[in-house]
Amino acid sequence: MQPTLLSLKNMDVFYGRIHAVRRATLHVRQGEIVALIGGNGAGKTTMLCTISGLIRPGQGSILFGDTDLVHRSPEQIVRAGISHVPEGRLVFSPLSVEDNLRLGAYTRSRFRQRASIAEDLEIMFAMFPVLRERRTQAAGTLSGGEQQMLAIGRALMARPRLLLLDEPGMGLAPLVVKDIFRHIVELRDRLGLTVLLVEQNARSALKIADRGYVLENGRVILQGTADELLANRDVQRAYLGRE
Ligand code: ATP
Repeated sequence: MQPTLLSLKNMDVFYGRIHAVRRATLHVRQGEIVALIGGNGAGKTTMLCTISGLIRPGQGSILFGDTDLVHRSPEQIVRAGISHVPEGRLVFSPLSVEDNLRLGAYTRSRFRQRASIAEDLEIMFAMFPVLRERRTQAAGTLSGGEQQMLAIGRALMARPRLLLLDEPGMGLAPLVVKDIFRHIVELRDRLGLTVLLVEQNARSALKIADRGYVLENGRVILQGTADELLANRDVQRAYLGRE
């Protein structure tokens, strides 16, 4: 079994008096794709933002390998090996596709990294050929699916070991979502990347995930392998709907 890469223990997160995440405990092993599923307001985005240092937990621990992330800044967390693709993609609209990708390598933009950054750009273009075609185009003029690929490519330019993906399928046509999910599996298989994925579309997420956690009102109410969750009656009723 692969070692644990990320481990959250008894994590509480508050927005003022709102208790958004309650005593959450979860782990992600190296090379796994783990899905966080749950309805609106369940605390999924909050959890990812807390891992990437954008929000501080009220209590609990977040271990990445042996490093405690709780008092680290977002920049230190990126340097430690975690990249976050936020909900809504948030590419830098006026900048070109290539400049967006290069900005993803911001934390490694030292002179001696120049060659490896150029190499990684080539890897991104090979993986997402549409980005090569559009490399000089302003990112804001890309389609939703293309922007999602750019946001993922930009996050990968930091050479993360763990990718946090928040609703990569949001607002996209089913075929585009399928394509993006195919890329996520490819990233794991080819680069050995570990992925923690938040997705409203529980069925698509569980189809590519190894394991999953179900969140409700900030609590982890269920966990299991993806197959166990797909077969679970409560999960089917609440989150899977009909095919
Ligand atoms: P969705 O799928 O709708 O995006 P989610 O599972 O990602 O939902 P969160 O966005 O993490 O849920 O929100 C968890 C809870 O925290 C919700 O009750 C939400 O209203 C509250 N919340 C989120 N952000 C803030 C904020 N900045 N200030 C106050 N409350 C917030």
